[in-house]
Amino acid sequence: MKIWLDGGLQDIEGARVSVFDHGLTVGDGVFETVKAADGRPFALTRHLDRLARSARGLGLPEPDLDEVRRACAAVVDANPMPLGRLRITYTGGVSPLGSDRGDHGATLVVALGETSRRPDSTAVITVPWTRNERGALAGLKATSYAENVVALARAHEQGASEALFANTVGQLCEGTGSNVFVVLDGEIHTPPVPSGCLAGITRALAAEWTGARETDLPLDVLERADEVFLTSTLRDVQAVHRVDSRELPGAPGPVTAKAMRIFQERAGNDLDP
Ligand code: PLP
Repeated sequence: MKIWLDGGLQDIEGARVSVFDHGLTVGDGVFETVKAADGRPFALTRHLDRLARSARGLGLPEPDLDEVRRACAAVVDANPMPLGRLRITYTGGVSPLGSDRGDHGATLVVALGETSRRPDSTAVITVPWTRNERGALAGLKATSYAENVVALARAHEQGASEALFANTVGQLCEGTGSNVFVVLDGEIHTPPVPSGCLAGITRALAAEWTGARETDLPLDVLERADEVFLTSTLRDVQAVHRVDSRELPGAPGPVTAKAMRIFQERAGNDLDP
């Protein structure tokens, strides 16, 4: 397995990042997960734009997006696999213990892991913790992900694959690694970005292609929605068949099934929409 580090490809076994990397010590970094089917990254331009936006949001040095693009191409070429997840990690770089980030440059790592297609439907839970829509990290894809890790572990304990958060004012927000959509009276709605959710790339494409509306939704909309679905880079559009103890029999329902079809078709025809 080859990864990209320090400006070139390296064997994973020999690749080393400093123990004083600010990404490791304080979670001072940003990242992207990009799907690569047969070595072709999907929606890479949107991912690179978001990486740069997140880096700016954290005050990291501007990433060299040409290098990131070259790194992605080199890593998928060096590690052929049918369905991969490229992980781009960009951190504040080496910063001795006890000091601020300062001007220590940055660390860029691009790695690839094998993945598989997700089932058409899944179970989700809601969690009692909130997303802070007014926090410094709202909407940024930062490596400070421990809250998501904890919530996802709770979901797995309950036989679900995703945990959904409300924000501080009780509105539906997003999952640990996905955006959420609900169907009400045949119309598709998803929380707006000011709710504190990540501006998901799959969310944006699915909303554009299905005509979904951005709507502030209370968390309890999940108790009455006709259909619920998730979007993310690795799930694409995925129906939800259970929310907590509420079963949604027949998922994917007709609106979700149509959204799944539209997404597969459009994404299959355009690698960099
Ligand atoms: N929300 C969070 C917190 C995420 O980590 C992700 C996954 O990257 C998403 C939403 C979905 O975003 P995307 O469709 O760009 O993968």
